[in-house]
Amino acid sequence: MNNIPENHPRAESLKMRATIETYRNMGLVANAGPIAHGRGEAFDYLLGEESIPCVKNDINVAAALLVNANKSVISVNGNTAVLAPESLVKLSNSIPAPIEVNVFYGRTNEREQKIANFLREHGATDVLGIKPSEKVPHLISARAQVDKNGIAAADVVLVSLEDGDRTRALLDWGKKVISIDLNPLSRTACDATINICDHVVRALPLLQKAVIELHANPGHSRALLHSFDKRKSRNQVLEYIEKRLQVLRSTIN
Ligand code: ATP
Repeated sequence: MNNIPENHPRAESLKMRATIETYRNMGLVANAGPIAHGRGEAFDYLLGEESIPCVKNDINVAAALLVNANKSVISVNGNTAVLAPESLVKLSNSIPAPIEVNVFYGRTNEREQKIANFLREHGATDVLGIKPSEKVPHLISARAQVDKNGIAAADVVLVSLEDGDRTRALLDWGKKVISIDLNPLSRTACDATINICDHVVRALPLLQKAVIELHANPGHSRALLHSFDKRKSRNQVLEYIEKRLQVLRSTIN
């Protein structure tokens, strides 16, 4: 992790890769974690590795859903936990909403425990998902397991790097799903109640800021939720990428 020169043009990206690799070796990130991360990197490249302007409104709408929920939960897997532990804890405290460890691959409880301990080391007090006793209806295998006091009881669930089947099953269960997914065309991004097309490391602090602003101005939520148009939101992201590619085509030698 220390061998990355600070002046390397892709230093931040390389550091994140190294983080994923380190925690995969320590058993917090799944073996498939680096593959999912790489898929995200490819889409982030298309966005220019920055939070694009049109996503700001999606973040505000997501904040309104979280703040107005009867019970919201932040679902995390290994990748998100190791990349953004402090941001997860700050968001959890600001909403307030518990964090639920909800891994997709290899539910042995050992990895979930390691992730939960890691989050606690970063200040989390309310970590669920270690003894999941409920199941997402119509979802087969261990990936269906959820906490009875967490996702099972929630009406709004924030997910990141989520699988399309599980997103669909959560929606069919009556939950509103907010996803953070760099691929605007993934099944999760298309099906979720709202997708934030941004990197988790950038999106989580922006979401926390939006939550704090809404707490200070609760009357603003209604207009945000009322005006949200999912198709328009996705099209704006796709148009942004399209325009960016056009500019790159004419400027790169
Ligand atoms: P789906 O089943 O929803 O179609 P998928 O099978 O492509 O999705 P995975 O391979 O599990 O899903 O990948 C997780 C998703 O998370 C991908 O769409 C990827 O672009 C996205 N992703 C990866 N890393 C990040 C990140 N750091 N921030 C935001 N999104 C990310």
